[in-house]
Amino acid sequence: MKWWFGIDLWKRVMVGLVLGALTGLVLRALLGPEAASANVTGWAKPIGDAFISLIKMLVVPLIFTTLVTGVLAMGDPKKLGSLGGRALALYMGTTVIAICFGLLMGTIVQPGAGFDTSIATAADLESTRAKLAANPPAGSVGEQLVRTLLSIIPDNPVKALANGDVLQIIFFAILLGIGILLSGEAGKPLHRLFDSASEAVMKLTLIVMETAPFGVFALMAWVLGDRGLGILTVLGKMTLAHYSACALHILITYGLIVRGIVRLPLMPFYRGAVDAQMVAFSTSSSNATLPMTISCATKNLGIGRPIASSVLPLGATINMDGTALYQGLIALFAVQALGIPMTPGMYLTIILMATLVSIGTAGVPSVSLLLATTTLGIVGATPDQTVLIIAVLFPFDRILDMMRTVTNVTGDLAVATTVANWEGELDEAIYRARDPV
Ligand code: ASP
Repeated sequence: MKWWFGIDLWKRVMVGLVLGALTGLVLRALLGPEAASANVTGWAKPIGDAFISLIKMLVVPLIFTTLVTGVLAMGDPKKLGSLGGRALALYMGTTVIAICFGLLMGTIVQPGAGFDTSIATAADLESTRAKLAANPPAGSVGEQLVRTLLSIIPDNPVKALANGDVLQIIFFAILLGIGILLSGEAGKPLHRLFDSASEAVMKLTLIVMETAPFGVFALMAWVLGDRGLGILTVLGKMTLAHYSACALHILITYGLIVRGIVRLPLMPFYRGAVDAQMVAFSTSSSNATLPMTISCATKNLGIGRPIASSVLPLGATINMDGTALYQGLIALFAVQALGIPMTPGMYLTIILMATLVSIGTAGVPSVSLLLATTTLGIVGATPDQTVLIIAVLFPFDRILDMMRTVTNVTGDLAVATTVANWEGELDEAIYRARDPV
């Protein structure tokens, strides 16, 4: 057992990821698609679901306790404003660049050109219509924005905690932290209580993360056993455009921020982020990955807890570069597949809409594909064409979602690293301790 724990966690998770993918593919080759799907749904999915529940269990206590402690550790509420403003500016800036990468790769690779949309069966269209009806678009852009802003204030913090509403929890935790600070002597017992609680929850997080190699193995076996790699034949060009745009964004944009703006070496950043990237890849959920993201930030990258516990939950909720990039790609895919003429002004509208959709997307699997109705609407797709495009993409979305979730989570970590450095909250000794592989 000792040898197992002696190996770096990211290496063990990597082994789980590769073995899981191979297991799924081998089962598919041996048993055929249907039997393999039934097989992995019988054993791998329940194990994967248990892993996701286990890490999701940590999200609320982790954000709440570490954020209150973070505010207390900062000691000065004004500091929150400065780091919040910096984080938001970087989040928005990187999202716009991400969409540009999506549009660039969509223009070069032309994923929708000549695409035969008739592969969508009547049943596919029907089930897509039902899914869209269950997730109606939330009104105009302005209405969506106002609703999101208003929804940040919880009318009942206990309900916010019970519902796991991250933005409301952030709002309440910050105010509670400020309240404790302002209470002076009387607030000290609560201060100590939160310090102790956040320490215990961080420890629990580290323990739960030890299950990641097995959880990731099971999730990969399930996804690949259930869906196989059919996406490569049906949506090969879309997959190529999507994966390469995400990879370019991760390497160039985040590389430029970490190396160019705050002048830190890059290898430790990518090495430190890899555990969270693998959990993001296998769960397709930035929310579920959040405990691992926070743990990577503090343990591997040396990001101070006040920054990790405020910037990362905010990022997991509103910063989705991979999702935004995907919205841009879906728009181009539709325009090319349906033969809609594209004007230069439409690119700008897509950038604006994709940014807003990504902010409004929850960090759970496949949700942004359903929100693409808004993006498709602004490029001129009719409601029937919108259903058609989503129906074509839906069966394969998980494989694309895995990569965009990796991008979303890496973006949160890149911004947190940068803001931590600016705020003097980055422990460079921890950051630099991670030698290149
Ligand atoms: N699965 C993505 C995430 O959790 C959201 C999406 O694009 O569907 O970050």
